[in-house]
Amino acid sequence: MQVPAQFDYEVATSVEEAIELLQRHGPEARLLAGGHSLIPMMKLRLAFPEVLIDIHELDGDLRFVREDDGTLRVGALARHKDLLESPVVRERYTLLADAEKFIADPLVRNMGTVGGSFAHADPSEDLPAAFVALGAEVVVRGPNGERTIAVEDLATGPFETAIEPDEILTEARVPRAPHGSSYFKVERRAGDYASAALGVALWMNEEEIEDARIGMCGVGSTTLRAREAEEVLRGQKPDEELYKRAAERAAQECDPPDDARGTPEYKRDLVRVLVVRAMEQAVSRARGGTEDRTADGR
Ligand SMILES: Cc1cc2nc3c(=O)[nH]c(=O)nc-3n(C[C@H](O)[C@H](O)[C@H](O)COP(=O)(O)OP(=O)(O)OC[C@H]3O[C@@H](n4cnc5c(N)ncnc54)[C@H](O)[C@@H]3O)c2cc1C
Repeated sequence: MQVPAQFDYEVATSVEEAIELLQRHGPEARLLAGGHSLIPMMKLRLAFPEVLIDIHELDGDLRFVREDDGTLRVGALARHKDLLESPVVRERYTLLADAEKFIADPLVRNMGTVGGSFAHADPSEDLPAAFVALGAEVVVRGPNGERTIAVEDLATGPFETAIEPDEILTEARVPRAPHGSSYFKVERRAGDYASAALGVALWMNEEEIEDARIGMCGVGSTTLRAREAEEVLRGQKPDEELYKRAAERAAQECDPPDDARGTPEYKRDLVRVLVVRAMEQAVSRARGGTEDRTADGR
C-alpha cells in the first residue's frame, strides 16, 4: 500500500469554511479536533489523511454544554472535561458524568472532544453508548445544509459512521432528561477502554418504569442498544427479579469480540452484572437517592 509521506494542514475559522475545505480536498481530508484519536491512528499507520483540517478555532461556535427549553445541547468541540464539570449534566444527565469519570485520564479529557468521540466510532467508545441510552441525536452540517442522525444509527461499522466526507458534526441533542440514569464500566486498568460498559436511562412514575433505554459498548462491532431488555423493563414495577430478566436479555443481544479484553462469554457475564447494578443505581436516583455506587473512588 502507498502511504503518503506527508500531509497538508489547513485551519478552518468557521463551520462554513470547514465544509468548504472538506469539499475542496475530498475524501482523503480529515477534520482534526482534539487529535487524541486521529494522531495516534496516524502514528500507528492506521490512518493516512492527505490533508488535516484543524477545527480548534471553532471553539466559539461549537464548544458549549447547555439546556435550552428542556433539550440538552452539547457542542462538538465540548471537551470531555466540560461534560464532567457541567452542573446541569451532573444534576439531570448523571450517566454522562458517570461515563466521563471512566474515560481515559485528565490529559485526554482536557483535549478530546465529544464530536471526535462520536465521529471516531470506536465500538468501545463510552460517550456514544451513554448518549444512546439518553435517546440523543447528532446534528451534522454539509454543503446541502443540516440533518440529524439518531446516535444509535450513527456508527455503520467499526470506525465507520453515517457522516459524509464533506459533513461536520456540530452538536448532540438530548430531547428529554431522564428521571434517573447511571453508567457502569469494567476496564482492565484505570483509563482503559471498556471490556464492557453500559448506560441506563429511566423515565418513571410513582410505581412503574414508564420508559427505559440501554446503550452498550465494547460488546459488539458498534455501539449497541439493548431493545429487548428495554421491552422487559417497560411498564413494570422495578425489582431485583425484573433487573435480572432484563440483564439476561441484554447479554443475549450483544455480540462481544474475542480479544485482549476478554472472551465473549466473560463480556456477556459482565453485561449481566452491569445491567443489574445500573438499574439499582438509576432507580435509586429516580427516587431521589444520592448514594453513588458508580464512583469507584474517582
Ligand atoms: C490514552 C487514551 C485513552 C482513551 N480512553 C478512552 C476511554 O476509556 N473511553 C473512551 O470513550 N474514549 C477513550 N479515548 C478516546 C477519546 O475519547 C477520544 O480520543 C476523543 O474523544 C476523540 O476526540 P478528539 O477531539 O481527540 O478527536 P480527533 O482525534 O481529533 O478526531 C477523531 C476522528 O473524528 C473526526 N472528527 C473530529 N471532530 C469531528 C467533527 N466535529 N465532525 C466530524 N468528524 C470529526 C476526525 O476527522 C477523526 O476521524 C482515549 C484516548 C486516548 C488517547
